[in-house]
Amino acid sequence: MKIIGIIVSIIIIVVGVVAFLLTPTIKLNGDPSMEVSMAEGYKEPGCIAKYAFWDISSRVKTESDVDDKKVGEYEVTYSVSFLKKSAKAVRKVTVVDKEPPEIKLQGGDEIKVEQYSSFKDPGYTVVDDSDGDITQKATTKGIVDTYNPGKYTISYHAVDSYGNEATHERTVNVESGSGSDEEKVIYLTFDDGPSSAVTPRVLDVLKEYDVPATFFILDYGDSEENISLLKKAISQGHTIGIHGYSHDYGEIYKSVPGFMENVTKLDQKIKKDLDYEPFVIRFPGGSSNTVSVSVKKGIMTELVDIVQEEGYYYSDWNVDSTDASGNNIDKDAIVNAVKNNCSENGYNIVLMHDSNMKKTTAKALPEIIEWAKEEGYTFKAMKRGGPTIHHDVNN
Ligand code: ZN
Repeated sequence: MKIIGIIVSIIIIVVGVVAFLLTPTIKLNGDPSMEVSMAEGYKEPGCIAKYAFWDISSRVKTESDVDDKKVGEYEVTYSVSFLKKSAKAVRKVTVVDKEPPEIKLQGGDEIKVEQYSSFKDPGYTVVDDSDGDITQKATTKGIVDTYNPGKYTISYHAVDSYGNEATHERTVNVESGSGSDEEKVIYLTFDDGPSSAVTPRVLDVLKEYDVPATFFILDYGDSEENISLLKKAISQGHTIGIHGYSHDYGEIYKSVPGFMENVTKLDQKIKKDLDYEPFVIRFPGGSSNTVSVSVKKGIMTELVDIVQEEGYYYSDWNVDSTDASGNNIDKDAIVNAVKNNCSENGYNIVLMHDSNMKKTTAKALPEIIEWAKEEGYTFKAMKRGGPTIHHDVNN
């Protein structure tokens, strides 16, 4: 009996010691440091609590401040008590935004507009899961030239505070129509300037007759003289367009990125020097040029779309003053070419040049303007929205 008593006492002591030493344990399911996106949300993976071999998971208390609708760092605390012993474990939860904003286009992703109508974007909204409405922060790129039927692409771009980007495109089909409101209008355009010999004379004549025009310029270096000539042109109400930083066909038509760099370089220079935002391009040689074929086959076909997607209008001409056919072309030949080719039905975009070798162009100008005014034409400078002329592309 004594022995039994001793054994029982030992068992009680052993159990007591074991019970004294044993504590519950908590093992987290899943990663103790979790990153979840707002879109997928936080799903509680739970834990397993044990006391020796006994599963006491049902006794676990879970406290969580996780808000998976808001970016932030949170904690989930798991605690359990058993036989006056307790255990605790913590899970770190980082809620991140990996979702791009959503761009919705009013009017649909593909719309039709009629030629000669004025295009106004039907609008869009941008909503982000963490930033809310960020429509105001979105940017758009691309133009729709309603004077020229075809397919245009406008792209909408938005970024949320966490760097998630979204882009959405709209296709705008300009369909052939009739009835341009640009009756009997002349757009005088001067390429290849500015030059010290001809541009000042052209500006003086235009001022004298109060006629606005458009200058498609090349790199004008850094001389104060050229910069002030261009500033004067802007202050007289003329449009400054981009001909290109360089006019070297062999260089500029080598590649699409190379061509765009030739445009961008001049664009940025104009913005910086003249505080003026150019919006219209004239391709050196025109979009119908055949000289680019030997440099890179097919490049004009690509470029006419790309410049518009990048937000530029481009324009060729429908009246050639013929002053490019040589240097110092007879003044009367220039006057007659314009007189004979201007049409009363619609708008006339007249190709002229104001580089140093085109002195007869400046001489012909007063006669051209006087004739046109007598015939009832009005003069305009090119503007955003058109009109423009697009030649057929030959490469
Ligand atoms: Zn040129």
